[in-house]
Amino acid sequence: MDLLIENGLIYGDGEFHHQNIHVDQGKIVAVDNRGCNAGTRVDAQGKKIFPGLIDPHVHFSLNLGKHTSRDDFFHGGKAAAFGGVTTIIDFLDPVDNIDDLKTVYQRRLAEAKPSPVDYLFHATIKNPKCDLDSFVKTMIGLGLHSLKLFTTYSDSNRRTYDEDIRELLRLSEKYGFLLEAHIENDAMIKNDPNVHFSELGTMRPTGAETTEALKLAQFVEEEGGYLYMVHLSSGDTLEALKKHHGHLLNNRFFIESCPHYFHLTNECFHRPDGYLYTMAPPVRSEAEKQKLRRLFPDVHTIGTDHCSFLKEDKHHALLKDIPLGIGGIEQSFLLMHRLYGTDVVPKMTEHLARLHGLEGRKGKISAGYDADFFFFEEEEQRLSTNHGATDYNVYDGTVVDGTITDTFIGGRHVVHHDSFHERTGRYLGGHHEIIDQRTHL
Ligand SMILES: [Zn+2]
Repeated sequence: MDLLIENGLIYGDGEFHHQNIHVDQGKIVAVDNRGCNAGTRVDAQGKKIFPGLIDPHVHFSLNLGKHTSRDDFFHGGKAAAFGGVTTIIDFLDPVDNIDDLKTVYQRRLAEAKPSPVDYLFHATIKNPKCDLDSFVKTMIGLGLHSLKLFTTYSDSNRRTYDEDIRELLRLSEKYGFLLEAHIENDAMIKNDPNVHFSELGTMRPTGAETTEALKLAQFVEEEGGYLYMVHLSSGDTLEALKKHHGHLLNNRFFIESCPHYFHLTNECFHRPDGYLYTMAPPVRSEAEKQKLRRLFPDVHTIGTDHCSFLKEDKHHALLKDIPLGIGGIEQSFLLMHRLYGTDVVPKMTEHLARLHGLEGRKGKISAGYDADFFFFEEEEQRLSTNHGATDYNVYDGTVVDGTITDTFIGGRHVVHHDSFHERTGRYLGGHHEIIDQRTHL
C-alpha cells in the first residue's frame, strides 16, 4: 500500500464510521478497521472525511471579449483543492458548427493542462448553423456527453431558439446525453446598455426565469430527453416547476443551484460596492432566498458558477462595463454545510458522478474509487481564505461551522493546512457513458 489514512470518521450514505482508508496507486483499495504497512501513514485525528467534491459549473479563463475570468485552470484548481473540490467540470466555448466544436475542444484541453484537480468539459452550443444530429454525434465521439445552451443572450448571438431546443431534446432522448440550459426568457430581459448595476435585479427579473423554465419543462413533456437546469436562482421558479411538472423532476428534469442564491440577496446591489456582486441570473429577494432554502430537498446538485474577476475589473457604474460573475469554489462546501450539514454531500458528489458517467470512480469513499477525499474539522470560523487569483471574495466574514484542513486527490496529499503540493490533474472525458430512465439521484 502507498497510503493509509488512520483514525478518521469516514462519510458514507449519510453516516460516519471510524475506519481506515487504504490507498494504492491513486485508488482506494479498502475501507475497513485493519492496519497495514503503508509507505505513508496519515493520522486524521478523528476528523470527518468526506469524498472529494465535484463542481459541475466552473468558468476558468472564460473569455468574455473585453475581460477574461481571472482564475485560470491552475489558480482556480488550487482554490478548488483548498475547498475540498477534487473534480471540476468547465465548458467549451460556445460554437454553432462541427468544425469549431473540434477546435474549441482541443484548445480547452490544452488550457486545462495545468489543473491540479481532475477535470471534464461540457460542450456549449450557440444559435446552431449545422445539422444537429451530426453535431451531437461528433460531440459524443469526442467523449463529451453534456451540452449546454442559452435561451438568452440573443444580443451576442448565443441564444438557441425553441425549434432547435426541441430538436436537441429529441436527440437527448435518442442518444442519452444531458442537455444543459441557462434558462431566462430573452424577451423579458431588458438590455439597455446604460443602466446602473443597482438595477440588475429589475433588468433580469425572476419571472424571466420562471416562465422560461416552465416552457422548457413543457418541451420535455412533449419531446422527452434529459434536461439539466443550471443555476436556478429563485425558490419561486422551483415551486412552479414542482407544481406543474413535478413528475419530471429527478427523472427528466434536473436542477442545479448555487451557493450565492442561498446566501445573498438583491440588497447587495444597493451597497456602494454592489458591482462586486453582479452575476446572471442575479441573486433574488430575501423571501425568494428563504423559499429556495425550504425547497433545498428538491435541488439535485450544487455548482458554483465560479467566474471570478478582480475588483478593478468590476469597478464600474454601468452594467455594460461590468463582467458578470463571482468566485466561490473554495467556499461552496462550507457555505452549504453550514445550512444543511451532511445533507448537501450527495448533491456535491454522488449525484454529479451519476449524471456525468463518473459513477464507480468519483463521488464516494469506497473500494475501487479514486482516492479523492478531504478532512473536515468542526470549528466555527469566519471565512477569509482565498487561494485563487482574485483580490476579493463576497463571502469574506461569513460564519461557517468548520474548516477543510487536508485534501487528497488521486492519493496525493495536495492540501495540508496552508501548504499546497502541486499535482497534474487528469482529464476524465473520452468515455461514452449515457444516461437513461434508470437515472434517479
Ligand atoms: Zn455559468
